[in-house]
Amino acid sequence: MQGSTLTRLVYVGGYGRSGSTLLEYLLAASADVVACGEVVLAAKRKDIPRCSCGQTRETCSFWSRLLTPERPPGSWTHEGLMLALLDDCRDRFAVLVDSSKTARGSFLTPFAFRRRLGDDFKLIHLVREPHGVCWSRRSGKRVSDVENSPRRFARYVRTVAGWLAANMACEAFGQRYPNQYMRVRYEDLASAPEETLRTIFERLHLGPAPRLDNLKASGNRHQLFGNRVRLHAPGPSEIRHDARWRNEMAAPDRMLISALSWPLRRRYGY
Ligand SMILES: [Zn+2]
Repeated sequence: MQGSTLTRLVYVGGYGRSGSTLLEYLLAASADVVACGEVVLAAKRKDIPRCSCGQTRETCSFWSRLLTPERPPGSWTHEGLMLALLDDCRDRFAVLVDSSKTARGSFLTPFAFRRRLGDDFKLIHLVREPHGVCWSRRSGKRVSDVENSPRRFARYVRTVAGWLAANMACEAFGQRYPNQYMRVRYEDLASAPEETLRTIFERLHLGPAPRLDNLKASGNRHQLFGNRVRLHAPGPSEIRHDARWRNEMAAPDRMLISALSWPLRRRYGY
């Protein structure tokens, strides 16, 4: 799979709850890019939710070409489905985005995909402040319920351990292949989306950066998995940096997360 006329893969690595659905959504403001959500889940899960284009996977013009009754979801490997997607996208899209990330089970995926695709593979390492990640994982629970739960400290430890591992996996790739790697902070993306996108398109040679007034008109988003941003399609003025943890998280909770995540947090300027 080498050559400039083929579809290139941009893989979004990092930990969950870091804004990958938003990043994909913004990248797909370019008509040359197709956003596919977490391809690893489309390959391995049998319960497939509605696509971000509004269709089911049986009626979606993108997924129904591959996830057929003969090859249903759950019967693919991640790499097998990704290669089939790239082949299916040739002549239609210059760039395919897979935001399967680098959490447990996917630490080495960027290395494996790079071995298959060579220079046609790029990794965007998406990072978010660990306090924001932990707070986002409270899954709609009320602030008072979180504060009264004695189990929350164990949950923070697990989350920060996962955050460290997922980010270290991307760091290792960046050390080995610096020209195919770029680190992006969720906070910069959400606060200055147009400027951050411009930097990404330039740095990874993805073609001209899109203007965000094209956002909603785009018909190239087929995210089966991801957070609710994928179904809502916010306009440019609705994109905001979610930093509610700064006001809502208790001091002992913050201190624990700060202490656990200290070395990498400093590296990322948090
Ligand atoms: Zn679709």
